[in-house]
Amino acid sequence: MNAHELVSLQRRFFRTGQTKSLAYRTAALKRLRQGIEDYHQRILDALRADLNKSEAEAYSSEIRLVLGELDYTLEHLEEWAAPRVVPTSEQIPGGTSTIHPEPYGVTLIIAPWNYPFQLAFSPLIGAISAGNTAVLKPSELTPSVSKLTADLIRDCFPEQFVAVMEGEVQTSTELLREKFDYIFFTGSTPVGKVVMRAAAEHLTPTTLELGGKSPAIVHRDADLKRAAQSLVRGKFLNAGQTCVAPDYLLVHEDVREELLREIELEVADKYGEDVTQNPDFPHIVNERNFDRLSRFLNDGEALLGGRAIREQLLIEPTLLQGIDWESPVMQEEIFGPILPVMAYSDLDPVLEKVVDRPKPLALYLFTRDEKVQHTVLNTVSFGGGCVNETLLHMSSHELPFGGVGESGMGSYHGRQSFETFSHHKSMLVRTV
Ligand code: NAD
Repeated sequence: MNAHELVSLQRRFFRTGQTKSLAYRTAALKRLRQGIEDYHQRILDALRADLNKSEAEAYSSEIRLVLGELDYTLEHLEEWAAPRVVPTSEQIPGGTSTIHPEPYGVTLIIAPWNYPFQLAFSPLIGAISAGNTAVLKPSELTPSVSKLTADLIRDCFPEQFVAVMEGEVQTSTELLREKFDYIFFTGSTPVGKVVMRAAAEHLTPTTLELGGKSPAIVHRDADLKRAAQSLVRGKFLNAGQTCVAPDYLLVHEDVREELLREIELEVADKYGEDVTQNPDFPHIVNERNFDRLSRFLNDGEALLGGRAIREQLLIEPTLLQGIDWESPVMQEEIFGPILPVMAYSDLDPVLEKVVDRPKPLALYLFTRDEKVQHTVLNTVSFGGGCVNETLLHMSSHELPFGGVGESGMGSYHGRQSFETFSHHKSMLVRTV
């Protein structure tokens, strides 16, 4: 079936109204949960095959997050889906005002390769919970996960409700020509622009979950051991191929040496003295990205790591020093296990530099000083972030997750996924 036939099929099905009933949506979410349970081992195997993710990492950063979203959604869906009564202006006597969340219709979800399971299934939960149909386009760079996604969805749902179209850019392009009622895209900023241009043709509302260079700032008074643990976990998870990974490190010059020593100890503790002997360190997704990252290793000087083994697509956790704002590694999102380090003496000019650049997806600040926290939060615009932690803001159901400016638009997770995939129909009913 081509893209046009598939969208027409889903549109006809959507118009029957079946997906709108709460019972249908709840049953679909439960079926999806069962499907994921049934495919548990295949998901782990596919993530190992495509990215060399260990079972522990694959479970905690992909499957567990999706199951958590499913359970949370099932628990709250009835409440979210109910019409909300809001006050009516006194100038309209006898009026009742309500907001009715309703599904958009036929939705498109385009997923990237770095968390290929989570970033396809998590938005799908939002689409289904809001009563839409969905076409999923997984990334071609993780073929095992793409195949299992197609199989799992086929086992759970008829194509008229949820379908997977596997393929490369051409498949995306073909899909983007069609008129969807909502598009949810996760991927790079340049492709985000392509998606938005295509969406503009049909005036299709769109969420763009993009990337960028997310800074980590370690201030003079930070708990350095804790900062090191958190930075290592955030930066080297999935070998740095994480949209919200700290991209570069800004550290106060007084604590630079001690922090770097703590990071070195933490890397050795977590991944072993020689990561090439660690069978569980994820590899770089393909040769093109490996070569791109290898070039950064010639930037500055490796304080830690610095080796790249092409046959294994492996790059060591690396700290780069001798970097400035103009260095090549500071010009694009790194998306690999390389952390450039720059020291500062005064925070204000550093924040100015950050503000001069595209708005990042995340920002991490390590300090106990509430004044510094306040200054950073009020000076820099970024998608979301943490103080004295990395990554964890994205695993909370209560915190909408998304970017701003070049790092994206719109957000999801928890209730926000339901809201994102719903149109809010405002109704005034007058009885006098
Ligand atoms: P990508 O933009 O290259 O690809 C994403 C998807 O778009 C894939 O399914 C791909 O097939 C498709 N695609 C690629 N080129 C296309 C084109 N010209 N037209 C239409 N579709 C096209 O991104 P990627 O390399 O898979 O993922 C890495 C990027 O995604 C990084 O920038 C990362 O920061 C970002 N990312 C963001 C988030 C987030 O939640 N904000 C999460 C993960 C990744």
